[in-house]
Amino acid sequence: MPVDHALVRALPDTVRSRDLDDWVNWPRNIRQPIDAYFDIANESRAPSLSGYRKTARAIQTLLRLAVNRGRAVRPFGGGWSFSDIAVVPDWMVDTSYLNWIFHVKPEDRTDMYATDGQELFLVQCGTKISQVNRVIERKFRRSFNTTGASNGQSIVGACATGTHGSALGQGGIQNHVVGIHVITGPHNSVWLERASDPATVDDFAARLGADLVRDDAVFNAVLVSLGGMGFIASMMIKTVPIFMLERHRDWLPFDDAFKTVLDTLDFTGVDLPGQTMGQQPYFFLPVINPFDTDEVSVAVQYRRDFDPAHPINYRLDLRRGPGYELLGAIGGLTNAVPRTTPKLVTALTRKQLRPQPESGKSPKTGTWGEMFDFTTPRTNSLGAGIGVALGQVYRTLELLIDEQRSGTPAPVVFACRYVWPTGATLEFTRFDPTCVIDIDGVATRYTDAFLTRAWARLDREGIDYTQHWGKIGNYDPVTVRRQYGDARVDAWRVTRAALLDTSEKKALFASTFLERAGLA
Ligand SMILES: Cc1cc2nc3c(=O)[nH]c(=O)nc-3n(C[C@H](O)[C@H](O)[C@H](O)COP(=O)(O)OP(=O)(O)OC[C@H]3O[C@@H](n4cnc5c(N)ncnc54)[C@H](O)[C@@H]3O)c2cc1C
Repeated sequence: MPVDHALVRALPDTVRSRDLDDWVNWPRNIRQPIDAYFDIANESRAPSLSGYRKTARAIQTLLRLAVNRGRAVRPFGGGWSFSDIAVVPDWMVDTSYLNWIFHVKPEDRTDMYATDGQELFLVQCGTKISQVNRVIERKFRRSFNTTGASNGQSIVGACATGTHGSALGQGGIQNHVVGIHVITGPHNSVWLERASDPATVDDFAARLGADLVRDDAVFNAVLVSLGGMGFIASMMIKTVPIFMLERHRDWLPFDDAFKTVLDTLDFTGVDLPGQTMGQQPYFFLPVINPFDTDEVSVAVQYRRDFDPAHPINYRLDLRRGPGYELLGAIGGLTNAVPRTTPKLVTALTRKQLRPQPESGKSPKTGTWGEMFDFTTPRTNSLGAGIGVALGQVYRTLELLIDEQRSGTPAPVVFACRYVWPTGATLEFTRFDPTCVIDIDGVATRYTDAFLTRAWARLDREGIDYTQHWGKIGNYDPVTVRRQYGDARVDAWRVTRAALLDTSEKKALFASTFLERAGLA
């Protein structure tokens, strides 16, 4: 790509232009030719509010340069989304170096959050969940309530799609957020809070260089922003006292009693792995292999008090695990010989989901950040996720299993994760509670065909479902309105129109994804 020397000269010294022709997401299923690639850093290593404001101004300069050249700008975090939600063909901005974490002082918090023990942190947009864990757990003995199963997403990227775990009673990761700093154009920047839950004192916004807006509807729309509300500079999160989890996993009969659990979360009829009398799991994750339905793999974690003698030790293991090459091999083989799929999927599932702890060993215990750690990218892996209401779980699974058996089988399994709503306007975990049925596996042409059949089947059978914005799905205007209802879609668009109140600003944060979904 020819270098735009005038542009390079005009860039702030904390913004670098990289000579990349394509943008590739982390799972490597999306490759998009782009006009330019930038990364942006803070002026120094040590967090300071003046440095924070300087970075915000650098972002605004970049936005001004983009407006002058008629380009859209797309900040991204981990690039972990399987969908094309994070990419535009124009200017891609890597936010990974924007990773300052500020402990919010008691005097900066409103009375509702003033007491010690209600710790708030201002987290810059590109900070990875793993980095937040390291700081809040080790230094402050605080914790997230829940996150995704792995922790390489950025705080803003994770919230933008409504990333979730399966902690019972907890919402998506956006449930931690009490303040959002969004830069909507070269000259505009707002600090958003809920009017019903103000977190900071009135002059805090000005210290960030932003205008204060307290409005529940606006806040809820920006919480799951789909990347379309502006450049989010930071989010303020509330945390809970640190705790520990104890992990167990086993295969249980996939019988009527367990099917009732899936639809009710009433565990009285089954013996969960590692369960002692009266103990309820904090985390619950059943995995169903459609080719091996006599049993279901059940992972549970029980909440334990934090042990001050416990040495917190994160396993940021970048080596490729044994499943890594295997997935690639399965992709190749099942593409060529699809009848091998059931056997291969069953062999892999039984191998990967072995009972834990192994006999004679103690269960693994650790903090939230230790239990939900790093995942290396897996060749050919693919993820889709649909949300359904409790009570619809087994029926939906039955349909998905039937589709697997009646067509050419696809190398995917189904995992059920339970999530509570948070009020975010377009969160896909909108049911109270939602069961997210993850369709996880290997990308092959039979997987694509299965997903197309699955969406059509669920529609035909009248299942009320939503789709994870960051995973593979069909996001067209009719589907999105059917899944969320006109009121939510219109409310989200009204907020977007108010924040991006000129055609210039709208164009700055436009994307094919939003247009395709009818949300532009
Ligand atoms: C290995 C793996 C494991 C996963 N596990 C889970 C899981 O357990 N649960 C789950 O729910 N999902 C899971 N996902 C999906 C993933 O959590 C989501 O796609 C998430 O949104 C990715 O976060 P990210 O930081 O990589 O965001 P990106 O993919 O980089 O971006 C997502 C959106 O956020 C926007 N964005 C990012 N930064 C900014 C900013 N500063 N300002 C404005 N917009 C911004 C982007 O433009 C884009 O629209 C997983 C994905 C992978 C690859």
